[in-house]
Formats: sequence, C-alpha cells, structure tokens
Amino acid sequence: MPIFHSEAIVLRSINLSEADKLVTFMTNRYGKIKCIAKAARKIKNRFGAAIEPMSHIRLIYFGKENQTLYRLNHSDIIHSFQKVRDDLQKIYTGIYFSELIDILTPEMHPDPNVFRLLQDGLKTLEIIDNLDTLCRIFEMRLMCIAGYSPQLSHCAICKKTSHTETIGFSFELRGIICELCSFKNQPEIRFQAGILKYLKKINNMHIEHANRLKFPKGTELEIEKLVHRFVLSYTGREPKSYPFIKNMAKIISST
Ligand SMILES: [Zn+2]
Repeated sequence: MPIFHSEAIVLRSINLSEADKLVTFMTNRYGKIKCIAKAARKIKNRFGAAIEPMSHIRLIYFGKENQTLYRLNHSDIIHSFQKVRDDLQKIYTGIYFSELIDILTPEMHPDPNVFRLLQDGLKTLEIIDNLDTLCRIFEMRLMCIAGYSPQLSHCAICKKTSHTETIGFSFELRGIICELCSFKNQPEIRFQAGILKYLKKINNMHIEHANRLKFPKGTELEIEKLVHRFVLSYTGREPKSYPFIKNMAKIISST
C-alpha cells in the first residue's frame, strides 16, 4: 500500500468513535486529505498535539491512491503556533482561516498556494494585533487563489472606469458596478469610492505585510461587509467560527 509524506497543517480534528479520530489536513503536496487516526483517543499521546487544529506538521499516511479516506501513520510537529493558542481571539481567527479553506477547497487538488496562504496567515496571526485587517486580506487572497478574484478595475457591466463618489458591488457579477449601470441593475451593496483603493490593496498584497495596512477609521465595517459577504456568496453559509470572532471583538472593545 502506498505511503505518502508531506508537510501539512491540521484543518479539523473530530471524534470518529470511542477510539479513533478523523483528521482533515491541508498538505502542501497532495492538497486537502482526510485520515483516520486510529486509537488517537485511547492511547495517550499517540499523536498528541500533532493532530490539533492549526498544528504545522510533518505527516506520513498510507492508503490506496485516489481513495477518499487514508490512515494516519505518523505526525511530527514542525510548529504548533503556540502564540495563537495563547490568545482566545487569535485561536478563533486561526480556526476561521482553517474552516474557510476546508469549505472552499476540494479534496485532493494539490495547490501549494493554499497551503502557503494558511501557513503565512497563521505566522502573521502570531505577531499581529490588527486581526480585522488580517481577516480581510486572508479572505480576499483565498478567493483569488480559488479563482474567484473580484473585478475591481472597471464596471462589470459597461467595462468603463468610474469616478463617482459611490460605487456598487454585485456579488452575482463578481465586480464593481458604476453609478450609471447601478440605475438599471441594482447592486447588492454600495460603498464610498475611497474604499476601492483598499479593496485593490488587499486583493494584491502579501498576507505577511498585513501590519503595514490600516483601514481609515469608520471604514472597517463597510470593508468587512463587502469582503466577508463576497466570501459568503461562495461558501453559501457563515463559517461556524466567525460569530465567535465578532463576539470576542465586542467583548474586548467594551473593556
Ligand atoms: Zn457601468
């Protein structure tokens, strides 16, 4: 039976039976895969923290090629992202990143860019305080890698560049809509034209540079509404971890 080796990051780990766990990994060589971790719940420390969500590991697993469920053989921690685990708001943010990738990525479609985005996103999460900006960049970068990049340079209908004060955005057409076209085709959302500059920035910037970007005061919610809703238009549902991030942010801002 073939044995596979890869670096991986744990996306999800759930109890499968009294003894076993089912672990979803994003590997850098084979894409997203699922493994049964036999006796992970019975034998103490058999896999330990190496199958906890967000752990960056060296993974060995086996099984027939192109099957959907493999057997976990060995996992060694390369980096546990302890600084993320020490902060409740960062934990939920890291889990949100993992959950989004789990929802948007098909199994066994190797794409090292997705693995790298998750790794760089978690690395940046360890050192950054502005989690809101980081979330927006992660969402936008993931959409681009998944092939759902929004049209931000010209109107998605008439193809003209707009210079008006407000701009529309259509989730269906996946792009901005100029004021003239907005009369005929009501966009789902309208935003101040000044925000477009920031959307373009997060569309192109490397996630490791997230601490260099700060949204103007008062625009954070508008940018969140747009980018997060853009993601939801593809996922079809709100990731379970997202309300926790929002609640934590509320608690922190009120103390
Ligand atoms: Zn137009």
